[in-house]
Amino acid sequence: MSKRDYYEILGVNRNASETEIKKAYRRLAIKYHPDKNPGDKEAESQFKELSEAYAVLSDSQKRASYDQFGHAGVNGAGGFSGGGFDFGGSPFEDIFGDIFGDIFGGGGSRRGGRGQRGDDLRYNLTISFEEAAFGTEKKLQLPRRQPCETCSGSGARPGTQAQTCGTCRGAGQVRYQQGFFTMTRPCPDCRGEGKIIADPCPDCKGSGLVKQKRSLSLKVPAGVETGSRLKLSNEGESGLQGGPPGDLYVVISVEEHPIFQREGQDVVCEVPISFVQAALGCDLEVPTLEGRVNLKVPAGTQTGKVFKLSGKGIVSLQGYGRGDQLVVLRVEVPSKLNARQRELLEDFAKAGGEDIHPQGKGFFDKVRDMFD
Ligand SMILES: [Zn+2]
Ligand SMILES: [Zn+2]
Repeated sequence: MSKRDYYEILGVNRNASETEIKKAYRRLAIKYHPDKNPGDKEAESQFKELSEAYAVLSDSQKRASYDQFGHAGVNGAGGFSGGGFDFGGSPFEDIFGDIFGDIFGGGGSRRGGRGQRGDDLRYNLTISFEEAAFGTEKKLQLPRRQPCETCSGSGARPGTQAQTCGTCRGAGQVRYQQGFFTMTRPCPDCRGEGKIIADPCPDCKGSGLVKQKRSLSLKVPAGVETGSRLKLSNEGESGLQGGPPGDLYVVISVEEHPIFQREGQDVVCEVPISFVQAALGCDLEVPTLEGRVNLKVPAGTQTGKVFKLSGKGIVSLQGYGRGDQLVVLRVEVPSKLNARQRELLEDFAKAGGEDIHPQGKGFFDKVRDMFD
């Protein structure tokens, strides 16, 4: 199933400002909000699609990535956990806090106090030029904090239990008076957790989490480039007190290639040829990502001439289309001549008319016009 374009969903154009995006979202969100359309599946899915589009386009970093790579740029193409967009934690809540807070009176979607979402993790992955071009599968070794098995994540020594904090009576927050207002702040004794561990678990020192190395296999899609970010939902740090895990972001860097360079989806390769080959024409064997191909260089080819090998470039990250390979010929002049070569070239110069220097005449005519 193909996903709709996020800009299209919001009905804005690609260079819409933040305010325009926010306005468009607000207008459509009111229209499709589940509270206004109870039991309407169509509206519900439109609302979901809309929220997803907004979550991406309202975040400048995600928007840039989406502009560059499309859906693959923000969904973690080839993701470990099915790749679907995941509201996991904060973006969705931010939207509600930000926009629905005032419209629907308090949002109502905020999570209850317990259960803190795990941190997002970043993993820098370096891959070769070819791996980026064709995609690859990588085994990652990740240090991650997992719930401690000894205490099942409670943090209390097995056989003991965490005590409800006396200061806040388990609420995790304490009230205090400031002028006329009653304010709350996280409880200083239990640090907002509502519980105090008197006898901590020896393995995790009371945190409920232990460090572990985890291995994970990652499918890197063809077409990624340096800076591409793959998101693996729920593969970040474990949450605390039953909170959801964070996400893992794998940030790609691609090694330089000794002979190929990348320009978007095209692969550029400079190939040196001798001035004799260029003048007489030749059959040239040139390298491509998938082996050698033959290139017919016509007689009289100038330096800098670009030949296009269609479809020999890099596959689009979105999964359709493929770039070309551009072969740039560099004509080389010999840097040393032996006596015989020199003699031949001098004869060659004497024998040749204007054609030994095809651009020369035009150029020197212009110089003459300039000064005379
Ligand atoms: Zn407390
Ligand atoms: Zn433990």
